[in-house]
Order: sequence, then C-alpha cells, then structure tokens
Amino acid sequence: MLANETRIGSIQAAVSSILRAVGENPDREGLIGTPSRVARMYDELLGGYAADPVAPLNNALFDAEYDEMVVVSGIEFHSLCEHHMLPFSGVANVAYLPDRQIVGLSKIPRIIDMYARRLQIQERMTKQIAETLSTLVEPLGVGVVLTASHMCSSIRGVRTRGSKMTTSSMLGEFRTNRSTREELLSHIRC
Ligand code: ZN
Repeated sequence: MLANETRIGSIQAAVSSILRAVGENPDREGLIGTPSRVARMYDELLGGYAADPVAPLNNALFDAEYDEMVVVSGIEFHSLCEHHMLPFSGVANVAYLPDRQIVGLSKIPRIIDMYARRLQIQERMTKQIAETLSTLVEPLGVGVVLTASHMCSSIRGVRTRGSKMTTSSMLGEFRTNRSTREELLSHIRC
C-alpha cells in the first residue's frame, strides 16, 4: 500500500479524471474541493486493508467458565461492493460457543469493521469474520449471519429494489449441530 500522502494524491487525481471524463469541469466552484473530499472518504471507507486482524483482540480475551452460546446481534455495518464500488449496508449477527475463553464485547464489532472497510463481496466478508473469530478465540464453534441491502442492485432496475441478501458462515458446532444452529437463528431477527 502507498504512503498516506501519495495514496490520497493518487485517488484525488483519479477523481479529477472521472469528473473530466463525464464532461464536468473539476475547477468550477462547486467541485473544487470534491476530489480531495472523495479521496479522504475512500481512505476512510477502505481503511480496513491497513488494519491488523489480531490487534482488535489484544488483551481482550478472558478465561471463563461460561460455556453457553454468546450472541452479539444487530451490529450495523457499511461496506463497498467490489464489483461497483457502491455501498452495501446491513446488520451482522455473530455467535460463538466458548471453550475456556471469551472475548470482550466491543471487539467483535471491530473485527466486522475491519473487514467492512475493504472492497468486498458479502459472502467473503461473512466467512472472514467467522474465520478470524475462530482463529483468535478458539471456540467450539462460530456462526455469523449478515443481512444487507446493496445499492448496486437497488438503484438499477425495479425488481431488486428493497431486497436484502442474507449470508451465513457456520464453523465447528454451528456446522455439525443442528440445534446449536437453530439456537443462533432464534436469537436473531434479520
Ligand atoms: Zn455491486
């Protein structure tokens, strides 16, 4: 990845090119600050590439006797689809079955955020969240369910307007044990 200033400068130049290509004048008053604003916006929305997947969980794992399912539901996320670079937004529900250790509550949204701030497809993002949690917390199982609406489908054509996509990734007990999976689904409302 390019250094900060070079990165923002490159995006800025690209946005100016897009403006000229669609017949705009990037120097007119209303657009003068647009390339730099858009560059900083992409830098923020795509900041997840620089994030360290392990960092969110540093000092956040606790030994625990608790061995029932932990469900964190209704975590809002915003990402950009890699096919059109348009937003898709929705809700993530994450559950795991602890095996001796549990993770601080605020850490799961940070993992989601790290993967959301990249160019994504929802299916891959769902799997990445499940696998990261599984690797770092070493639970007996992980279940992740994401429901999102994709701007690229909702702004084009009437048929898919208002539709949502749900993806899931089930690992360990959540994959092999039907009642564990059903317990997760009973906790979440998509
Ligand atoms: Zn798309």
